[in-house]
Amino acid sequence: MKVALVNPFWTYEHSIYFGCRQPHLPLELGYSKAMLEADGHDVLMLDGQLQALDNAALAEQVASFAPDMTVVTTAPTYLFWRCAPPELRVPGEFLNHLAGRGGRTVAVGPHGSATPAPTLRKLGVDVVVRGECEEVVAELARQSDWSKVAHTASLQGDGLACNGGVHVSPFVDHLALTWPSDWIAAHGHHHHRFDTVQKGAGAEVEASRGCPYNCSFCAKIDFRDAYRRRKHDAIVAEIDGLIAQGVGYIYFIDEIFLPQKALLEALVDRDVQFGVQTRIDLWKPELLELLGAAGCVSIEAGLESLTVEGRAMLAKRCRLDTEDLAALLIDARRNVPFVQANLIGVVEDDPALVDYWRKHLIDHGVWANEPVPLYPYPSSPSYRELWGEPDDLAWERAHEHYLASFRSFSDIQDQRPHALAELESSCCNH
Ligand code: SF4
Repeated sequence: MKVALVNPFWTYEHSIYFGCRQPHLPLELGYSKAMLEADGHDVLMLDGQLQALDNAALAEQVASFAPDMTVVTTAPTYLFWRCAPPELRVPGEFLNHLAGRGGRTVAVGPHGSATPAPTLRKLGVDVVVRGECEEVVAELARQSDWSKVAHTASLQGDGLACNGGVHVSPFVDHLALTWPSDWIAAHGHHHHRFDTVQKGAGAEVEASRGCPYNCSFCAKIDFRDAYRRRKHDAIVAEIDGLIAQGVGYIYFIDEIFLPQKALLEALVDRDVQFGVQTRIDLWKPELLELLGAAGCVSIEAGLESLTVEGRAMLAKRCRLDTEDLAALLIDARRNVPFVQANLIGVVEDDPALVDYWRKHLIDHGVWANEPVPLYPYPSSPSYRELWGEPDDLAWERAHEHYLASFRSFSDIQDQRPHALAELESSCCNH
């Protein structure tokens, strides 16, 4: 079978999207491609950003390949499934250009995982995959009767037919991925890196998936939820392949990069630097030293709130008080050139106290951003606390709530974000 896998050409005008806008490796498509090829399928994988192809050009390439099945992701790579653009404008635009020339169509991503019916209606695809997608995509290519494929949903008349719940990939046995050399050459971006000397191309790698915590704002209930650690040899083989292709910096997309002595020791001997997101309360001073020696140049630590009450409100389940956390962050900064304490706007936080701790951290070389507001994504506990299980209007509801709650947005967000229906009006069937 011929299968096209597409990361569309992302644009963000008037979006509330607050993730990074640079290109990143579409790991979900990379794993899917490896599994499809192992089954003998012929795969065309395209990435709008890395190949500088807009959605019309992507659609033309897919149409010339004449696949039996086309898969499109609704988030700009696995790195951003937990904070995807709420609107389906971009995958919708790609599918409109494709205009039925890609065989049967499949959407993967956070939208179809949490809210399959509106995703199917808005995009007009044959099937959505619910949850992590790689094994399900491979299974769709094996079966001609898609009603038998678990973790998928389709529309039957006006109604939704769901075959099972969300998929959790076993993940631990994922083999080393390889990427086209021209993609790596086009990946100059070093994600979340702010120190000065940047050498070589950038790349993203996944050493673990999921997280054992359940912070209230974290949109991972339907994917990337349970913590799994990938086998060491595959991770190291993937990294060695990337280094041989000219990569000088790797960003581990892990929800929570936990201390892994064997991996850190393997990295000490390799000519590559890296960045991570983690929880600082899970690190000890000696492991922070090893993290720095291994080549870590960027830590994004999800402190979220600068008060015990604020962290409790966000369900961080953090055992340390603010003073201990600040000391650990400052200790991390002694070993790693860029350390960020990620802050979220919490009403429980006294602004004067937030200012005090932000200044204290910044004075010691740790970057602490201005607190950013929360978006109650349908796959987050906070959405479900507010409104229960997501229904067909979940994204519209979350979006309206967010726009009504905050007058100013973060530096990287569009300052005039639009309502969801407006964002999707040109390319999604409402
Ligand atoms: S620690 Fe991070 S990844 Fe884990 S639930 Fe909290 S915000 Fe999400």
